[in-house]
Amino acid sequence: MTGCKTIRKLLRLKGLKVVAATFKQDKRLLLTVKPHKNGCRCPECGRRCRIVRTRTELRMWRDVSVCSWSVWLQYRPREIVCPTHGRVSEDTPWADPYARVTYRFEHLMLSYCQIMTQKAAATLLRVSSSTLSDLLHRSITRLRAGHRIHGLRTIGIDEISYCKGHKYATLVYDLDRACVVWVGAGKGRESIDVFFNAVLTPHQRDQIRWACCDMSEAYIGAIRDHCLNAPLVLDRFHIVKALNTAVDEVRKEQWRLASRTERHALKGLRWLLYRHSSTRSRADSRTLKALEQGNRRIYRAWRLKDEFEQFWEYSAPWAAERFIQRWMTSALKSRLEPLRQFVNTLRNHYAGVLAFIGSRLTNAIAEGLNRVVKIVKNRASGFRNLAAFTDMIYLTVGDVNIPAQIPATFHTLR
Ligand SMILES: [Zn+2]
Repeated sequence: MTGCKTIRKLLRLKGLKVVAATFKQDKRLLLTVKPHKNGCRCPECGRRCRIVRTRTELRMWRDVSVCSWSVWLQYRPREIVCPTHGRVSEDTPWADPYARVTYRFEHLMLSYCQIMTQKAAATLLRVSSSTLSDLLHRSITRLRAGHRIHGLRTIGIDEISYCKGHKYATLVYDLDRACVVWVGAGKGRESIDVFFNAVLTPHQRDQIRWACCDMSEAYIGAIRDHCLNAPLVLDRFHIVKALNTAVDEVRKEQWRLASRTERHALKGLRWLLYRHSSTRSRADSRTLKALEQGNRRIYRAWRLKDEFEQFWEYSAPWAAERFIQRWMTSALKSRLEPLRQFVNTLRNHYAGVLAFIGSRLTNAIAEGLNRVVKIVKNRASGFRNLAAFTDMIYLTVGDVNIPAQIPATFHTLR
């Protein structure tokens, strides 16, 4: 076996022949390559075509590093004339026509970025962080190009901040398939309208059967106007959050009014009041029991919050409605202002709250996805621009498996 053949076999290079190999001083391994079976294939249709120009520019492709050698492929793609596609540069089977890296490198890069920070991926791939984010953006844009959303039946809409200084993006989830289908800038009505008007067809809008969102007027309005066949379900998580905030308001108010000795008893209550009954320990129950004597107002607020948990267990809408009516009456009687305000919120969104019982549409999936998105965000300690953040969302929780779009023979992690 000749040296070049050995290198090809060792590096498991596919679709090409190694013509020459040079080990450079700066730890680069330069491989002069050429396509298998003399190439000359059209990149569009794969047909063998006539060569019209051979003296073309030398192109370089970055490949996966081996034993601290960064491997580069070099070749002069010849110009050919395809009867259908005209004058084009011949196909290079190891890389996309416009890419600066090989398919293998791209696959490894995308797979790494799914599970680790870009910085870590850049170190492993031996490229700079800025190069990596540039390559990543190009790859994701190319691999998602022309993608259409399919089979969207249950949608969830939520907002997320992606940068210090309150910059927001709107995320649209497919709750059946647990993925993000769209990311848009801003969190207002005009942002979400872009999704319904420009991304979905009228037929797709009619196909939506359920829609779930938080109490944002912009999203509620958009769902009412665009999804005519979809009843709105208010996101359970956001309702619970609003209730928790109301309870916390009561606690803060009491804290302000309390004397120094009384404050001692109120310490460490915050997270305890938030806690769901299923995760409460014996010690927590004792503290809450003591609270009944210690501070009646906080205790009353907490009791109301605790009782409200029952609502989510109902399966019959009439029973749930009866429960919520009674609960609202006792909350109004409690003489706790934050809880009264919460009752007002419930009244304003009454149908949306009750719709949960019929649909059992939990936004747990969206919340799970949101958690992943937040991990991605924290991993990068914030994104400077939305494009970079969108790339990472599509790569980690998007509706397309992006690394799988690369030809299977170049999948490296197998
Ligand atoms: Zn062609």
